[in-house]
Amino acid sequence: MPYAISYECISCDGCVEVCPVEAIHDGPEHKEINTSECIECGDCTKACPIGAVYKT
Ligand code: SF4
Ligand code: SF4
Repeated sequence: MPYAISYECISCDGCVEVCPVEAIHDGPEHKEINTSECIECGDCTKACPIGAVYKT
């Protein structure tokens, strides 16, 4: 199940800092996960202070 980032993201960069494969990038409105780079480790879900990362 791929991970995604919701519109609630405040672009704090917490998830970007913990992602081991640098799969999280700036999108037009908030951070976005590149699913072709993501290894689905789940670290970003734990790092997000507002629970904006979810499984699709
Ligand atoms: S699940 Fe892991 S690899 Fe995928 S975006 Fe989150 S931190 Fe990066
Ligand atoms: S940790 Fe959460 S709020 Fe911060 S940039 Fe990532 S998804 Fe957005």
